[in-house]
Amino acid sequence: MDKLISLSLGEVMLKGANRNQFIDKIIGQVKRRTRDFSGISIYKDFGKIYINCNDDDIDAVVEAVKPIFGIVYITPTLRIDKSMASFDDAVLELLESVKGNGYKTFKAKAKRSDKHFEIHSDELNRRIGALVLRNTDLKVDVHHPDFHIFCDVKDSIYLYATRYKGTGGLPIGTNGRGLLLLSGGIDSPVAGYMMAKRGVAMDCVHFHSYPFTSERAEEKVKHLAAILAGYTGTIRMYSCNLLDIQKAINKQCPEDEMTILSRRFMMRIAEAIAEKYDYQSITTGENLGQVASQTIGGLNVTDAVPNRVVFRPLIGMDKIDIIAYAEKIGTYETSIQPFEDCCSVFLPKHPKLRPTVKGIERSESKLDVEGLVREAMEALQIHTIKQGEIE
Ligand code: ATP
Ligand code: MG
Repeated sequence: MDKLISLSLGEVMLKGANRNQFIDKIIGQVKRRTRDFSGISIYKDFGKIYINCNDDDIDAVVEAVKPIFGIVYITPTLRIDKSMASFDDAVLELLESVKGNGYKTFKAKAKRSDKHFEIHSDELNRRIGALVLRNTDLKVDVHHPDFHIFCDVKDSIYLYATRYKGTGGLPIGTNGRGLLLLSGGIDSPVAGYMMAKRGVAMDCVHFHSYPFTSERAEEKVKHLAAILAGYTGTIRMYSCNLLDIQKAINKQCPEDEMTILSRRFMMRIAEAIAEKYDYQSITTGENLGQVASQTIGGLNVTDAVPNRVVFRPLIGMDKIDIIAYAEKIGTYETSIQPFEDCCSVFLPKHPKLRPTVKGIERSESKLDVEGLVREAMEALQIHTIKQGEIE
């Protein structure tokens, strides 16, 4: 009898022809996250991933693989061979592991994936049931049991009772590469996390107005990226100075259009980065009606710029729910640190609430849009941000 950890893959299993590729991506992530443990081996058996590790490391390995997108359940599991010699011992050991949980009822749930195995599920269930009834005070409840005893018959036989919830979603990279517009605020890190969870391999761009905004403000954004990297793996952060563009807008265009024009430039530069470095999507933390630039008019005018899909996963969420999400993923405390943002440098007193594409294009015709974008791209800096650390 061996102790292992099994990973259930949920949605990934629906992916037909791509399934194996998806599973291999998750195995790659598991390897990366468990490389500090000794004696790890990983294999597949009928659509689940199994991790062999030292018995003492099981709890720590469960924690290490929890953030991986695409895993639905993480389950300490007992493996026995098909001679069934250790079957009873394994069931008794499982009962021992749930002792003290206050359970009163159970249900046995056997599944025979290997159809050649001669003992059928019903018989396995009866055998588990008889063992439990003989050795404990637990009662059978087939409708609403306090816990299940699972038995999967595959290349080996696996028994388990306690399952921990994984993060779910789809493995990183299965929905292409995406570029997140990452400010220092509360919203954009959450938006980046949400799209990464849908399988987008996420890098980010941050706009600053140095020296009007400080280096410390940029450090804060790098810190946020480092927290995100804890979920996604190493992140590339493109750092772009918007100051010359803001100065040009300030000089040539109506004051109340500053915010919306800046946002159009952010989108243009994001589009240029996506084109140059091959990102198929752009993600922002925009939210309908939260601030003046996020009215329907504002969003339409911003959206007219890029040539690729723009994801706004927070668009219909309430702020209070976004904050709860930020707390859950661990970005909130960093986001609320007070540092200046590039948008606040030339903040208009009354930003335009109903901009139109035509009107904004008229203002932009006074600017050398292409030249300004080209110069910003030439001055672009690229940082590599690893999990939990800043370059
Ligand atoms: P956040 O909390 O993410 O800053 P917000 O509610 O403050 O959002 P805005 O400042 O209008 O809203 O920004 C909307 C979105 O535009 C942000 O979520 C982000 O995706 C992008 N954005 C804004 N400022 C920047 C910046 N300085 N660098 C990169 N992206 C930015
Ligand atoms: Mg902001």
